[in-house]
Amino acid sequence: MPDGTASWEAVLARLDDAAALIDLDADLHEILRKPVRMLEVGVPVRRDSGHVEVFTGWRVHHNVTRGPAKGGIRFHPHVDALEVSALAAEMTFKTAVLDLPFGGGKGGVRCDPAQLSLRELERLTRRYTWEILPLLGPDTDVPAPDVNTDERVMGWLMDTASMASGRSLPAAVTGKPLALQGSHGHSGATASGLLTCVRLAFAELGIPMAGSRAVVQGFGKVGGTLAFLLHSAGMRVVGVSDVSGALVNPSGLDIPALADHVKEHHVVAGFPLAEVLEPADLFALDCEVIVPAALANVIDTTIASRITARLVVEGANGPTTPAADRVLDDHGVVVVPDILANGGGVTASYFEWAQNRQGYAWDDNVLADRLRGRMEHAFREVWGRASVLGVSQRRAALAVGLDRISAAFLARGLFP
Ligand code: NAD
Repeated sequence: MPDGTASWEAVLARLDDAAALIDLDADLHEILRKPVRMLEVGVPVRRDSGHVEVFTGWRVHHNVTRGPAKGGIRFHPHVDALEVSALAAEMTFKTAVLDLPFGGGKGGVRCDPAQLSLRELERLTRRYTWEILPLLGPDTDVPAPDVNTDERVMGWLMDTASMASGRSLPAAVTGKPLALQGSHGHSGATASGLLTCVRLAFAELGIPMAGSRAVVQGFGKVGGTLAFLLHSAGMRVVGVSDVSGALVNPSGLDIPALADHVKEHHVVAGFPLAEVLEPADLFALDCEVIVPAALANVIDTTIASRITARLVVEGANGPTTPAADRVLDDHGVVVVPDILANGGGVTASYFEWAQNRQGYAWDDNVLADRLRGRMEHAFREVWGRASVLGVSQRRAALAVGLDRISAAFLARGLFP
């Protein structure tokens, strides 16, 4: 079974590298090499058959110097403490790169939601929420959806937290249904932030959007939505994959038809208007941009050495190994890193939290404009830092984030 060791080691390797690059305060560097707190919980759930199964869950706060812990909750059979810690650390850096007033957190339950009925999923969500309640709250820790969790799960989470405190707590969680003061545009925000990054990086590299070719791994909330946005922007999405396999069409897939197919069959396999491709060959397709939007650690040195695209924009969290970073760098492939590229989701979460705390819903166009503005600002700041330092976008993004965490740390000082 895969474990989170590789993901956590990648976080440490990149942190150590960026710390040396910007001469980070040695005390803060040491603090960031360990999560500030981690809660492991047993989650007993009565199955529909009547017996009780005990699942394991975690909630991790990596660092909360800049504000409440912010980060999603994933339900997945391979989740473990180190993977959750790595994802929490990435949230610390991501919220800092996007300049959101949050720290980094993440949660997970090791389970296979496909094997749970709806009622079992609700009982699991509510009991897990109850067990991690000591950490949660609008001023301390604000969860959101991640892999295999959605707005319905966030609704149960909000209700459980509210019932426990005896008052309605909409700001305790983001990515909620609209009926619970969720926010318009939250579900598509990660993909729309990725589109902004593709557009700005193409402009920097002198590549036109219209007619250019994209490959997208993953056809879920992020990959499926992004494929649609790229297609709508006049690009040809020539290859996609999901858990069921990979598809290719060099003249561009009919993405709206594929989305209808996935709505009906839940997977891309069986889509008639494309050739089937070996999933391992997806990233070697001729194209201008590749967007991994599924799993961690999928771009290793072997895959990296087969990439001919000029640009990789990371939709997934941690899709590239540190060793693969070096290969891509050597080959002149520009990588817009996860802690910048997929930050549209947490930015929309920030907007939802801010509206909930204000008790005042913004107009849809205000939200879309502010999201685009934040993404553009962060992209330009990272791009500028990369050219000043003469380093990759990933190292520059970490430098930008660490500078902000450092300023907050130095201003607060060390307790006690
Ligand atoms: P999702 O569950 O909606 O979709 C995941 C997709 O990956 C599915 O299409 C699935 O079939 C596919 N997949 C699974 N195994 C695969 C494999 N072996 N090969 C190819 N495809 C495979 O999840 P999501 O919300 O779209 O998240 C995808 C990634 O983006 C994750 O790494 C997540 O952490 C990251 N992310 C998501 C958001 C968000 O707003 N949802 C925000 C930031 C980052």
